[in-house]
Amino acid sequence: MDKAVKKKKLGLKQRYTTMTRDLAWETSYQDMDKVFPYDKYEGIKIHDWDKWEDPFRLTMDAYWKYQGEKDKKLYAVIDAFAQNNGQLGISDARYVNALKLFIQGVSPLEYYAHRGFAHAGRHFTGAGVRVASQMQSIDELRHYQTQAHTISHYNRHFNGMHDNIKWFDRMWYLAVPKSFFEDAFSGGPFEFLTAVSFSFEYVLTNLLFVPFMSGAAHNGDMATVTFGFSAQSDESRHMTLGIECIKFMLEQDPDNVPIVQRWIDKWFWRGYRLLTLVAMMQDYMLPKRVMSWKEAWEMYAESNGGALFKDLARYGIRPPKGWEDACEGKDHISHQAWGTFYQYSHAAAFHTWIPKADEMQWLSEKYPQSFDRHYRSRLEYWDDLAKQDDRWFNQHLPMLCQTCQIPMVFTEPGDPTKISLRETKYEGQKYHFCSDHCKEIFQHEPRKYVQAWLPVHQIYQGSCYPEDINPESPGDSPVREVLRYYGVVGGQDNGEFETSQDRHNFDGWLGKAHKPEQQTEQEANK
Ligand code: FE
Ligand code: ZN
Repeated sequence: MDKAVKKKKLGLKQRYTTMTRDLAWETSYQDMDKVFPYDKYEGIKIHDWDKWEDPFRLTMDAYWKYQGEKDKKLYAVIDAFAQNNGQLGISDARYVNALKLFIQGVSPLEYYAHRGFAHAGRHFTGAGVRVASQMQSIDELRHYQTQAHTISHYNRHFNGMHDNIKWFDRMWYLAVPKSFFEDAFSGGPFEFLTAVSFSFEYVLTNLLFVPFMSGAAHNGDMATVTFGFSAQSDESRHMTLGIECIKFMLEQDPDNVPIVQRWIDKWFWRGYRLLTLVAMMQDYMLPKRVMSWKEAWEMYAESNGGALFKDLARYGIRPPKGWEDACEGKDHISHQAWGTFYQYSHAAAFHTWIPKADEMQWLSEKYPQSFDRHYRSRLEYWDDLAKQDDRWFNQHLPMLCQTCQIPMVFTEPGDPTKISLRETKYEGQKYHFCSDHCKEIFQHEPRKYVQAWLPVHQIYQGSCYPEDINPESPGDSPVREVLRYYGVVGGQDNGEFETSQDRHNFDGWLGKAHKPEQQTEQEANK
């Protein structure tokens, strides 16, 4: 007689192994190196892929269940925010410019991360890292979508958010995040993980998400806070992938150490330069301030990062080369960046303004070494000009760094009165850099960086005009035509905040919200 077979329930670890690693196999019809052509050319030596630790042990069915629950909660908040006209509850219409910077410069990186992890996930020989990368790829697509959905509500009420994808490919300041990520995902899979999972997500991510999300909370934007938390809950998995990848490479072969060190040097510096945009947002664009960039840097980079590199010292890894210069820059970069955007906001897609008196006071207190001495008088001078109806817009385009693509606005380490500029020659051409570190990155892979699509060079070469104009013709305003090519509505999407349509509308809505007839309507609804 047949005996009923009792189904054995698998333990968590067994179940994970069955549903992930056991699905991988050694190819026999084709050589493994042909099937996975990219995970050796970077020079990283792996002897035993089974040593890869998967700390989360998440299977696909559990993954979809968790993510589905998160999305349900998030979309309930977004709906409530839209139905209650949440945009009227924010601190001040200036705040929305931080969101514009986010949807223009950060959200497209989520999409790039989605593509990058899908590619990396396909090309690792080890099944553990492959599964983790593919889950992260789906996470990143979700991040892009939730951000686009949340911020689309603001797009109905404010300028500067209607064409973020087109702008990401065209606009000068968005070339900074764009080139960062394109550099990362055109590297090999190990460099990609070192760049994005380790240097950016493990070392620097708190400096991106904490300021934006606590900034949103302080300024009454609960919709953004919610997508932020929803994305941050994936982040712990992403950070683990980053640190695991570094430790795995370092443990597998001593020859990997110098390669990994060079990547850490490079990607720390590229990440730090990219965060200039966040520094500026934090110190200048939040009507209700959270903490200064300098304080955030001290907390998240200096103390947390310091401990991390002490821990990695046992593998022979030292802190990144640019570390000291980055720490020195904490007193300066936000002011230098805002000064630049203030002068060029007629060519950007968000508004700028002069900080109010109490905000200047806050900056003096937070930056006792630098603000009053180097940056306050320039802002006051521009403020005077604006009051005389002569708002200053710089009509000359700046030189850009060949590596980070930021205009030459940074100063020499140790001398904030002198612009930092480096140059080098490659195949008879001269190339310019903002720092020793950007120059060194170039010199290691010149054939990669000579291809950079530098927005200012492209404007001067005539590549950024709409097809229906002749840039030679007298009377055409070059900036106006470049904006038309960008898809930016000059004077509406950009320029001075004080005289903007955004400000005018927002003030009007608030006035209207307090009008008696509105109250009667509310009374009637009771
Ligand atoms: Fe993400
Ligand atoms: Zn640079």
